[in-house]
Amino acid sequence: MVDNEKLEVRESTRIERIGAHSHIRGLGLDDVLEARLVSQGMVGQKDARRAAGIVVQMVREGKIAGRCILLAGEPSTGKTAIAVGMAQALGTETPFTSMSGSEIYSLEMSKTEALAQALRKSIGVRIKEETEIIEGEVVEIQIDRPATGTGQKIGKVTLKTTEMETNYDLGNKIIECFMKEKIQAGDIITIDKASGKVSKLGRSFTRSRDYDATGAQTRFVQCPEGELQKRKEVVHTVTLHEIDVINSRTHGFLALFSGDTGEIKQEVRDQINSKVSEWREEGKAEINPGVLFIDEAHMLDIECFSYLNRALEQDMAPVVIMATNRGITKIRGTNYQSPHGIPIDLLDRMIIIRTVPYSPEEMKEILKIRCEEEDCQMQPEAMIVLSRLATQTSLRYAIQLITTANLVSRRRKSPEIQVEDVKKVYNLFLDEERSSRFLKEHQDEYMF
Ligand code: ATP
Repeated sequence: MVDNEKLEVRESTRIERIGAHSHIRGLGLDDVLEARLVSQGMVGQKDARRAAGIVVQMVREGKIAGRCILLAGEPSTGKTAIAVGMAQALGTETPFTSMSGSEIYSLEMSKTEALAQALRKSIGVRIKEETEIIEGEVVEIQIDRPATGTGQKIGKVTLKTTEMETNYDLGNKIIECFMKEKIQAGDIITIDKASGKVSKLGRSFTRSRDYDATGAQTRFVQCPEGELQKRKEVVHTVTLHEIDVINSRTHGFLALFSGDTGEIKQEVRDQINSKVSEWREEGKAEINPGVLFIDEAHMLDIECFSYLNRALEQDMAPVVIMATNRGITKIRGTNYQSPHGIPIDLLDRMIIIRTVPYSPEEMKEILKIRCEEEDCQMQPEAMIVLSRLATQTSLRYAIQLITTANLVSRRRKSPEIQVEDVKKVYNLFLDEERSSRFLKEHQDEYMF
């Protein structure tokens, strides 16, 4: 039973790790931003990757906030993979929000509210705070414990110097720090007033009384003469959206964790914008514009496009990267056609990165990387068949066959995927073209 549980936990972690793009670890560029042929899980598509690398560089330097970039190309040519590579290259410090164009059609909130939230999730605010650090030698420690049975360990530390006496209310955190760090009389410690963190720097040889954590009732932390009070700058990074949520709901923090943020009033956002501008002027905060990636951009409609067009002109705007595989098509919500289904005025302010179809060798290389990612052994002949299928159908379809063929080969207790496994799953699972052909041939047998 226990073993089974362990197995399940392990399996689910593994499933999570292998996503469609989990093999992508970056853009695979060298120091001068040239794309290496195969690097960081990326294969080929060198011009698009190089262009994406330049965008990443500019985002890092804060040069292109408010710009819009379009990744345009045929299906399965790596547009999403490149966006994932950009997110990896930017690192965790830069906010990167990813959404699909169709996500805005939710019943929970209006389309423009969904976009407003996505845009504000992509703008980081670095808030600088000063915290007071007190350094001194521990003479005695006092913890006022409440009556037993309350389950609380809340107490108080009195820091005494020759000039002053300060009481600190302690939460469990400080008490735990004292216990964890085994703080005792004679230790030189620092207490961070804001976070309550206690750190042990060393020991003074002037005192040696032991601190008994469990028996401590009336003891004092005393800082000797010449006690040092240091000020240290700490930086927190949050997004504008997080500040919005925390200030718009009574239980803002909980809403952030549950994702149940609801609509946020414009007046709350206006107040937050002016507060953040104030902090910027006072040098207390810096804006860190990140990236909003919108996949399937052709799914947005005219209302969304005009909202985005306006939003990009604002003072605090992120970089917006869109991706589409559509050619000349209707702009949703209108009867007009335009390239990629995007209105000309927005298209006009975009820079476009084009992705191109892969050569058979490049497809084979990507398939090999995916096999490694999924821990699959594939016979060379089977890989040739699968690569051929990728060129005839699509790369995405061939990638999906790896998982299923692996399952079939494991059923046969074979250590590797062979040609027969690939053939079997090719017949079991249709690609888009065969499915459409079948539908056309049997149209009359379906319900209208
Ligand atoms: P669509 O237009 O259909 O949304 P797309 O252009 O976004 O397609 P992806 O989803 O990025 O295509 O690519 C399909 C699969 O191939 C993904 O698993 C992706 O990680 C992988 N892939 C695509 N291009 C590359 C590449 N250059 N290197 C490595 N893997 C790639």
